[in-house]
Amino acid sequence: MNSPRCSAFPLASLRLLIALAAFWLSPLGEAHSVERLLSAGVEYDEKIPSPAAYLGFDWGERHLYHHELVSYCRVLAELSPRVQIAEYATTYGGRPLLALSISSPENLRRMRVIRRAHLQLANPDTPAPKGLDKLPLCMWMCYGVHGNEASATNVSVWVAYHLAAAKDEETRAWLNATMIRLDPSLNPDGFERFAHWTNNHKGLFPSRQPEDREHSEDWPSGRTNYYWFDLNRDWLPIRHPESRGRIHDYHQWKPNVVLDFHEMGSHSTYFFQPGIPARNNPLTPQRVFELTGQIAEYHAKALDQRGALFYTQERFDDFYMGKGSTYPDLHGGIGILFEQASARGIQQNTRHGKLTFRQALQNQFATSLSSLRASVKLRRELLDWKSEFYRTAVEEARQDKTTGYIVTSPNDPSRLLEFKNLLQAHDIVVNTISKDLELDGNMYIAAESLMVPSVQPEYRFVRSLFEKRTSFKENIFYDVSTWTLPLSFGLQFAEYQGSVDDVMAKAEPKPKSQKLEKPSVAYVIDWRGYRTPRLLNRLLEAEIAVYATPAAITIRTKDEAAEFPPGSLIVPIKQQLDARVMIRRLLSDAARSDQVRIHSAISALTDEGPDLGSDRMVRLKKPDLLVIAGVGASAYEAGEVWYVTDRHLEMSITLAPSSRIGSIDLEQYNRLVIVSGRHQFDAAECKKLKIWLNRGGTLVCYGGAVTALESADILTNAIVPREDAGRADAPLSQRRPYGSAQEAIDLQLISGAILQTNVDQTHPLGFGLPARLPVFRDHETLIAPSENIYANPLVYSSDGVMSGYVSDENRALLEKCASVVVHPHGAGRVIILAENPNFRAFWLGTERLFYNAIFLPDMISNKLSE
Ligand SMILES: [Zn+2]
Repeated sequence: MNSPRCSAFPLASLRLLIALAAFWLSPLGEAHSVERLLSAGVEYDEKIPSPAAYLGFDWGERHLYHHELVSYCRVLAELSPRVQIAEYATTYGGRPLLALSISSPENLRRMRVIRRAHLQLANPDTPAPKGLDKLPLCMWMCYGVHGNEASATNVSVWVAYHLAAAKDEETRAWLNATMIRLDPSLNPDGFERFAHWTNNHKGLFPSRQPEDREHSEDWPSGRTNYYWFDLNRDWLPIRHPESRGRIHDYHQWKPNVVLDFHEMGSHSTYFFQPGIPARNNPLTPQRVFELTGQIAEYHAKALDQRGALFYTQERFDDFYMGKGSTYPDLHGGIGILFEQASARGIQQNTRHGKLTFRQALQNQFATSLSSLRASVKLRRELLDWKSEFYRTAVEEARQDKTTGYIVTSPNDPSRLLEFKNLLQAHDIVVNTISKDLELDGNMYIAAESLMVPSVQPEYRFVRSLFEKRTSFKENIFYDVSTWTLPLSFGLQFAEYQGSVDDVMAKAEPKPKSQKLEKPSVAYVIDWRGYRTPRLLNRLLEAEIAVYATPAAITIRTKDEAAEFPPGSLIVPIKQQLDARVMIRRLLSDAARSDQVRIHSAISALTDEGPDLGSDRMVRLKKPDLLVIAGVGASAYEAGEVWYVTDRHLEMSITLAPSSRIGSIDLEQYNRLVIVSGRHQFDAAECKKLKIWLNRGGTLVCYGGAVTALESADILTNAIVPREDAGRADAPLSQRRPYGSAQEAIDLQLISGAILQTNVDQTHPLGFGLPARLPVFRDHETLIAPSENIYANPLVYSSDGVMSGYVSDENRALLEKCASVVVHPHGAGRVIILAENPNFRAFWLGTERLFYNAIFLPDMISNKLSE
């Protein structure tokens, strides 16, 4: 159980000797043993093995594997009365996510009481908890949300060991004053990907050259999770099990301090927050930054003692609320980002000289401890801040003329339910409305619309989710400049100014479930339902014939006529009697669990639109998707396609790099998706792609891949060139200070903005979409509209930018551009989606656009699009 696994292998001893020699020679001149390094002169409980004793290698000698970390943490929890362990989620890759509760044994025994007091602090309606003078602070220590930022997770076991085993007075005082939740690895799948790479390419005498394989991971890097998502953007949309489990735990406590350990480029030094003051989120109270500044003094002192260089306030901001160091700022806590220059292996030459993995670990260890030292010192201020944060939030909410937000999703209850679940996961109060309302000319139906009241403890976070902002103190962003949640979900919403009590339902409504009508001639399925594409995929997988209507139809049912919009699906019954059991099972499930609207047509004759047997009905093909994923492609965008097809559609797809186009049998596929990236195709590959298109293939091309298709001569004039008129003529009259150049360039970036588009709802790519659809743009490539006036199904509306920063120059240019364009190519076509429709997988509104592009392209007539 705790037997040290020291290897008797001679090579290992040799390695240890070499490592120790390197250690002694390191510029920061450290002591002889890891234990002494941890904290000079501190004695450790001998019954508890250090990670080195347990795992058989010294720190920084190689990288931990995730299973080693798990087994060591379990041993700590078994042997130390100061540590308890829980698994809060499991990754897609099947790895456990661990939370270590670390505190004095006495605090751990009364954890439930302490937790309740913390929730009381966050609830202005309850009196302050008793014994505030003695209440332990709640501190979260989060390591390695980016899996290849290795010193974070690798140091976590040493911090845990120190807290579990150190016998000194100061550590014991910290444990009395804090309840720590130490999360050693927020991204186990990415961490493991990196550990394998770097451990498998390390020589006995490791290279210091940055270009060495050890330091240059393959595609995709270990930064992201299983589906290549950045989990440090997922604190808000919580699409993944890692974040869902963490946010659930978060609201069990609402911690006072959250530490977020990362690594950055190798040529940097060390960074800790505060970040760039002008880029703070305006909803965050100033006090958060004051406290961050006070805590920072302790990190400065700790790193100065080591002689380590660092900086603050010049980089990284606290704007986007979906990051680990920002989310706490709007929840009564203080989030602190730490960034250590990365050795990306064992050692690397940098502009500051040799950087070793060990030095990185030592810095991270020092700031882990300085955070505890600072927080314990500021314990009372931090506790008081939490209660003040929530008290003032409710006070501000009472002054807000917006008393709440009303949200609905006409014709798609399933998407509204997803939205409600997300809000509730963030501890936001939300319920349906009890009477119909008309706001801004739109109807909000009772029981089918939600009310999110302003007056609630999470008021500030609610505002950050609902607000549309187009002016900023500074127009440069580390991440996106906007994330208005109802727009990303494609929902209809309005600010409400009346009495909340008058319209908000008192009890949770029972979820509606539909029963499938008896089969007759055909079933007709509404394409607008969020889960309808998944049902379609299940039907096509089962080889059931499904048709789609190119125009709106009104069908006859047993009771009354039912209207269906274009794109709705028709499943004939009598023609496929063999499959009728399967059809009933799939359709019943969809109606009951996913609230998909389905009616049974009693006649092929319709009251409006083509009859069900019309030649105009299109038999849908099962999409066989090849997605370009590999070196050159955006791993994020490819990962999002993989995720939505795999997890939302339950569709099996093929991921392959562009370098294999030459050897792949393209006839196996009828859809090819090319996400943004630097793709290159040689002459033979270009020819092959063109032949495939001519034979009827559909190529779905993201905005950031259009240049590659132009180079491949598959598209021409598909991009609007940026004119730099005047510059050549009058360089001197345009002269600007050199010092302002970078900023001028940055100001032209579109770092995530929401644009309004007008949708052609009669075009197959517009089926199931609302007349106006917000899209999310995070790049500057301008897509030229087609000269064919019927081939631009989505264009930017003249009231263009709904939220986020877009320069005036870019706004003017976008007016000349299209968001979705179809270019016919023989019997096939290229569909350009200027904006990524699956951004971080929470853009449920535009996700439909992607589904139209892969399920409905055969409905587009090339004759009409030429
Ligand atoms: Zn990071």
